[in-house]
Amino acid sequence: MVVSLNHNVNQTLEELPNAYQTALAQYDRAVRHMELDDNVVEYMRWPRREFTVNFPVRRDNGHVEMFTGYRVHHSTVLGPSKGGIRYSTNVTLDEVRALAMWMTWKCSLVNLPYGGAKGGVLVDPKSLSMREREGLTRRYASELIPLISPYSDIPAPDMGTGPQEMAWIMDTYSMTVGYSVPAIVTGKPTNIGGSQGRVEATGRGVVICMVEALKRKGWTTPGNISVVIQGFGNVGTYAAAYAHDLGYKIVGVSDIDGGIYNANGLNIPTVRKWVGEHRTVVGYPDAEPVTNSELLTLPCDVLIPAAMEGQITENNAPHIKAKMVVEGANGPTTTEADDILHERGILVVPDILANAGGVTVSYFEWVQGLQEFFWDVEEVYRQLERILIRAYDGTATMTEKHNVDMRTAAQMTAIQRVGDALVTRGFYP
Ligand code: GLU
Repeated sequence: MVVSLNHNVNQTLEELPNAYQTALAQYDRAVRHMELDDNVVEYMRWPRREFTVNFPVRRDNGHVEMFTGYRVHHSTVLGPSKGGIRYSTNVTLDEVRALAMWMTWKCSLVNLPYGGAKGGVLVDPKSLSMREREGLTRRYASELIPLISPYSDIPAPDMGTGPQEMAWIMDTYSMTVGYSVPAIVTGKPTNIGGSQGRVEATGRGVVICMVEALKRKGWTTPGNISVVIQGFGNVGTYAAAYAHDLGYKIVGVSDIDGGIYNANGLNIPTVRKWVGEHRTVVGYPDAEPVTNSELLTLPCDVLIPAAMEGQITENNAPHIKAKMVVEGANGPTTTEADDILHERGILVVPDILANAGGVTVSYFEWVQGLQEFFWDVEEVYRQLERILIRAYDGTATMTEKHNVDMRTAAQMTAIQRVGDALVTRGFYP
């Protein structure tokens, strides 16, 4: 049997800014405006636990390949840690650390009783057959068993994973303990305890925040507002669909292979049909082709980066034409770019608010699973909107009170809540 290490997939890494440095810089910036005890500041800066595992997956050709996976628990101060699992060729321990920290602030900002975590496997998900994908997911899940449970750490989907992976994780955990435990993961298919409205929740939440931001600027005619969306995965697709349903003009969208632009507005249902048949937006007939970097600087009112971290940098921030950026992805904007956008008067609705719809409906799913009492989709949407608007309101108030940008205000609100709970609980022992 031949064993090889699957570490040659990490090629684009050099090009991406280090997400953990961005997360720490944002944290340091936020705490400077706060009156927190130094011990509390230092404690919250560190991930609580970090787990690395190398594990085998048998390929369809019989060959066994080794893969590396991570799970980081940044904080468990407000409750069990919560966060997705990502399959991507950019996964590193630093990326997972950053994403775990952002989960802590996100859950705190929207007032969910959770800490923050994230997991990742360094793999190109497109390179796996269905059987290999199942093998990889089940083996990674079994390695995570000492770390996860409905009361300690609850995984969910992220980039490169979805309901099917969650079903395999739920089944692997349940087979190990000997009975079904639906509340071990969220983002499951609805026929095994998933919540109505979870699949579209992140994209829907992005649009709820966009509409709120526009309303506060007095821009209330959707047909006059043009939107560009980078990324046509789970977040971008449902953001585009919901915004299109509300009457906004989606002029540009992209995926990893490239982008498309139509100044008169794209017909999103037909773009989705095209993607269903061709697996990419590229080649869609009723639009001009654009590259991913051109897409970010297209003329538009709202830019929604919904792909991945480190996309808006000091290089392209001076050329962004949007009047508002609503962050669907986690960490799409570097700290240098944040400063440039702020100086240029471009509002950035930060990730931990704008994309919190996903984890919010994950929370509903977890609650429904523990109670074995399920809600209809109208109830899910109503509660989602209530929670996001309340968090938006709190963040906007903080922005004005401290005269800071919206990201700093959101982080301050979130950090304060975790810090207060930490002080109340005390340092053990
Ligand atoms: N991966 C999503 C996020 O980044 C969802 C996490 C969850 O539902 O726990 O927010």
